[in-house]
Amino acid sequence: MSGEKWFIEHFDSAGTAFGLRLKKKLEEVQTEYQHIEMWETDTFGYLMTIDGCTMVTSRDNFLYHEMMSHPALFSHPAPKNVVIIGGGDCGTLREVLRHPGVEKATQIDIDEMVTRMSEKYFPELCESNDDPRAELLFIDGVKWMRECDAGSVDVIIVDSTDPVGPAEGLFKADFFRECHRVLRDGGIIVQQSESPLLHSSSIIRDLHINMREAGFTSTQTLPFPQVCYPSGWWSCTMAGKGTDVTAFREQAAESKPFETLYYTAAAHRGALVLPPFMQKALA
Ligand code: SAM
Repeated sequence: MSGEKWFIEHFDSAGTAFGLRLKKKLEEVQTEYQHIEMWETDTFGYLMTIDGCTMVTSRDNFLYHEMMSHPALFSHPAPKNVVIIGGGDCGTLREVLRHPGVEKATQIDIDEMVTRMSEKYFPELCESNDDPRAELLFIDGVKWMRECDAGSVDVIIVDSTDPVGPAEGLFKADFFRECHRVLRDGGIIVQQSESPLLHSSSIIRDLHINMREAGFTSTQTLPFPQVCYPSGWWSCTMAGKGTDVTAFREQAAESKPFETLYYTAAAHRGALVLPPFMQKALA
């Protein structure tokens, strides 16, 4: 690698690292909340990092954005009002708005600069930002949820950074209690839940406990590949307020009226079957 430039994310607690060979650094900005950097890579297109952690690349973001939206939306009987906490790169918002039954999608990110950088470098993720059903707000998701009317939302998607810094509060039981209050009966929350290999017996297990403590009756983790995140294997964890999130509208998913690159009804069915090590860790 002599002379070549690389972006390397060290995941110290796991003793691992992930790297992308770089063409050049494009831009960086320190906001009130976090340090955002933009890079051009040799083989993954653009890369956005926040506080040194990979967030989005042009090449593999579809894995994450599709699995953070479609399983929850097809598990809900009829999602109309959807709220995204975080998601500042707008990729999840775009996937949510592919569902014709969705009447309103509100994205609440604490840091407006993430969206402004995404509009500049990932315009393809921002193509639905002007959809009349979309609303973008720039405030703390913990605060917004506390002030939101009860029984007003069908699906909450927590597309946040890791459970440190501004996102820490988004993984706590208090936050899930507020989400439970804000969801209508039958509502679903889905949260990005880190790496099955590295976090099943910690972050993921705690999420199930905190979600059930908050009153959710059914919880389910779905693993999926995500190359640029630690271990290359990621997950989302869903919880239902009366809805069984181990089942979904299979016919609707089979006949979905939009293209996807990873999500299918079969991939959803497969993700519901957790490997034995995860079943043990989450028992
Ligand atoms: N896919 C990424 C991952 O799994 O790490 C997350 C993508 S998105 C860029 C993460 C977003 O969470 C960031 O834009 C950040 O500003 C936002 N965020 C962090 N804490 C937040 C909070 N308390 N309220 C709202 N948004 C928050």
